[in-house]
Amino acid sequence: MADRIVTCRYLKAFNTQCTAEAIDPDGEAVICARPAAEVMRTVSDAQAKPREKGRS
Ligand SMILES: [Zn+2]
Repeated sequence: MADRIVTCRYLKAFNTQCTAEAIDPDGEAVICARPAAEVMRTVSDAQAKPREKGRS
């Protein structure tokens, strides 16, 4: 196993590469804690929402 630090693959706005250390270098999503937390929050928010029809 390489001993290098694997950095986040997440691209911030304007294609700026995030340089934080990835939380799981061998994981499917090589990202740091910040976007991971955002994704988890988005998923739980979406699941908590009642499904309403005809709303825009
Ligand atoms: Zn990051």
